[in-house]
Amino acid sequence: MFKSKTNIESIGFQVESSYSSLPQKLFTLLQPRKGSQPSLVVFNDALAKQLGLDFSKVSDPDKASIFSGMYQIPGSSPLAQAYAGHQFGRFTYLGDGRALLLAEHITPDRKRIDIQLKGSGPTPYSRGGDGQAALGPMLREYFISEAMAALNIPTTRSLAVVRTHQKVKRQVDLDGAVLTRIAQSHIRVGTFQYAIAEGGVETLKALADYTIQRHYPHIMDENRYLGLLNEVIKAQAKLIAQWQLVGFVHGVMNTDNMAISGETIDYGPCAFLDAYEPKTVFSSIDYSGRYAYINQPAIAAWNLVRFAETLLPLLNKDQFLAQSLAQNSVETFLPQYKVEFLKGMRMKLGLFNIERDDETLIEELLSIMQKEKADYNKTFVNLALDLDGFRKNPIYTVWLEKYELRRIKQKETLIESVELMKSVNPAIIPRNHLVEQALLQASDHQDLSLFEYYLDLIRQPFAYSVEQIQIDQPDIQSNKPFRTYCGT
Ligand code: AMP
Ligand code: MG
Repeated sequence: MFKSKTNIESIGFQVESSYSSLPQKLFTLLQPRKGSQPSLVVFNDALAKQLGLDFSKVSDPDKASIFSGMYQIPGSSPLAQAYAGHQFGRFTYLGDGRALLLAEHITPDRKRIDIQLKGSGPTPYSRGGDGQAALGPMLREYFISEAMAALNIPTTRSLAVVRTHQKVKRQVDLDGAVLTRIAQSHIRVGTFQYAIAEGGVETLKALADYTIQRHYPHIMDENRYLGLLNEVIKAQAKLIAQWQLVGFVHGVMNTDNMAISGETIDYGPCAFLDAYEPKTVFSSIDYSGRYAYINQPAIAAWNLVRFAETLLPLLNKDQFLAQSLAQNSVETFLPQYKVEFLKGMRMKLGLFNIERDDETLIEELLSIMQKEKADYNKTFVNLALDLDGFRKNPIYTVWLEKYELRRIKQKETLIESVELMKSVNPAIIPRNHLVEQALLQASDHQDLSLFEYYLDLIRQPFAYSVEQIQIDQPDIQSNKPFRTYCGT
């Protein structure tokens, strides 16, 4: 029950369950664990408004009731989704082990979104895990996913973080928390892997039809399942190019962490590059560097081959024909990715038109940056603003001469070029040491002032305020590589 006089109707939830109409193998209806005294830590008012939800008359304790799962949204039937996945290359049965689809909500512009709780207690898919999440990592997902959204990169969003006031046992006892995550859906490559492995072709077909209707209703291809494969390939080519362009390392690109919608999903051991080192890995468990920055496009292609394999029975009755259709499609991924990457890189360099030697020019810059361990993000900001004596720096002299000759092969002026650069090169990205500092204050000292201050700056990464440019510095004091941990 609510603590104050909240009228749930006034919030404007438009709940409609559709996932539960799929074959039952794909989910388990389940209520969230009921805590006793949840309290609100952060709430994303702007996102709530975008979703057509009005919380202006809802007290913080009542928000905490809703977004810890204590108060059930009328008409909703929460469920845990089943999925499988290749984790570091090995196939495993997984599923929402600590998450629940609280409700599907229809926004005022008729978009269906998932409202999911993460850290809401054990489910039949917990595999011995406790179903809990700790405050620090949930605030981290909140922060990074909101930063990605501000960078115009498709991503799940974060609506709220609630403290459960229950301890979570890790190496030490930590404060428990629940994150509310918003997604176009939580259907993953792994959901398709589960559907075919556990349910067979009927279940697979039902899932594929549902997915087409929900995400790609415009598919008109004669072979609609091939159309689905091609749409997912296209969406992922765009997404991964955007990651590479901002220096984002996802860290755990298992097939269960690749969303069919093309959104970035599951923020675990992810982080942004400081120095440009293509082999950068942030995850504490990625010993072989499988998910290193430079490997992300190839790993996405590998995951898409797994996706294509699941679809084979739907592509054609003739197995060989099905395989060749799938192969032809998957082979377009890397070329599509490259087109997107080059398009984005040209913009980062303030180039409007296409010239034959652009790729070489880009490769040469990246190679100097790698050799000099230049900060990835700062290099582009400095080029745009000519900061830190960038144009006088001898390491760039030869490259800059070529670049200037290239830049004048377009009709746009230098001013227009700089404007283009400032519209795509963020003045600020989440710096690992600053995010850690903000999280430490928030989770260990219950002081959210730094978290909120930093988040405010991150929310407008193209504003180019003096404050943003000053704050956006790599950690020069630390000589140890940054490490993050997943599943905590
Ligand atoms: P992730 O590495 O976060 O993508 O999670 C991989 C799988 O482990 C997913 O099926 C999660 O639901 C599950 N999982 C992660 N942490 C926990 C936990 N504390 N309790 C139960 N399941 C978990
Ligand atoms: Mg996951």
